[in-house]
Amino acid sequence: MRINIIRGQNQIGGSIIEVASDSTRILLDAGSELEETDPVAPPIDGLFSGNASFQAAFISHYHGDHIGLCDKILPGIPIFIGKAAGRVTNAARAYMGKPEYHFSGFYESEKPLIVGDMIVTPYLCDHSAFDAYMFHIACNGKTALYTGDFRSHGRKSFRALLKKLPQVDILITEGTTLTRPPTKPVTEVALEQQAFQILSEAEGPAFVLMAGTNIDRLVTVYKAARQAKRILLQDLYLAAISTAAGGCIPRPRDFFDVRVFTTTGADERYEQLRSYGDARIGKKFIVNQNFIMCVRPSMRTYLEKLTELKSFDNGVLLYSMWEGYKEHADMADFLNFMRGEGVKVISLHTSGHADGNTIDDLVEKVRPSVIIPVHTENSAWFSRYQGVAIIEDQVFSF
Ligand SMILES: [Zn+2]
Ligand SMILES: [Zn+2]
Repeated sequence: MRINIIRGQNQIGGSIIEVASDSTRILLDAGSELEETDPVAPPIDGLFSGNASFQAAFISHYHGDHIGLCDKILPGIPIFIGKAAGRVTNAARAYMGKPEYHFSGFYESEKPLIVGDMIVTPYLCDHSAFDAYMFHIACNGKTALYTGDFRSHGRKSFRALLKKLPQVDILITEGTTLTRPPTKPVTEVALEQQAFQILSEAEGPAFVLMAGTNIDRLVTVYKAARQAKRILLQDLYLAAISTAAGGCIPRPRDFFDVRVFTTTGADERYEQLRSYGDARIGKKFIVNQNFIMCVRPSMRTYLEKLTELKSFDNGVLLYSMWEGYKEHADMADFLNFMRGEGVKVISLHTSGHADGNTIDDLVEKVRPSVIIPVHTENSAWFSRYQGVAIIEDQVFSF
């Protein structure tokens, strides 16, 4: 087995990993660089140019730093992703007017797939992207586990996942949080309790600013809103995503206390709105409700009109994203606008990535003899594991 970390070593994002044997080549993730708006594929012959020489590409989850180059992969190479992840990412792209990604098929958790002389087994894990997976690869008597992005403080049981994971020779693991001082991460359930507290104490309207595709967070906000007897108002973008996620994810039509609103009168948006039937709600009705509304900086004009019908005084805005986005000019302007309307901005967020203790637990369970750190700026952290070789070379064969 040969592992080639084409990109994503000593950096966060842009993950592109090749696993090869004498007869088979597969790809794990095809990520763009973080904050790259118009992704450019690096020159990789057989993957992005020339004749296709990979037998399959497996995408761990739909964050851009893992999927952003999947439309640049040569057409002869089949691409696989989780079924719900595929629906969510294409719903988001369709809403934004971007061409949908083409997936050749969908893998399922714990169902092995045979590609040449490799057996690839996905394992569902918890992350801030919905329907995210780790990959176990077995080839000629050797085994490797690639974690993708994961955490133990979401709603899915990490203990249950650990029980399922077999021992491996090589662990390719993310270490996103390892440059930060070690702290115990806040769980999604604890966030839900905090949000409930805030929402029940707030006298005015409530708003939440979150990544539309962070489905775990949507569940957290919905559960808190429900306990605080507020309806959840999703804009058309969020409604498209929650509807694509399906299952038990709070969405208009299937949840009586989730309603959908539009911020524009554009024709195509109106057609989308109509598809939600009685779950639609307009400004005049919104103002008579006890609600929490999903908002984004682009909704400022709409919100200005809403303030003409209802004061935002004593309102709250749950800022449920990475703190760094507050530095962006449009975000800073928006938050200042909301503050000016009498809204208190409260940060309520937790990371989508594993803390050090979680990585310790994983290493203890899968007992690798080799660790290849990826998606981290602190590979040195891994030297704590005695008797384990830490590989920082791009290519590793064994
Ligand atoms: Zn990532
Ligand atoms: Zn991710």
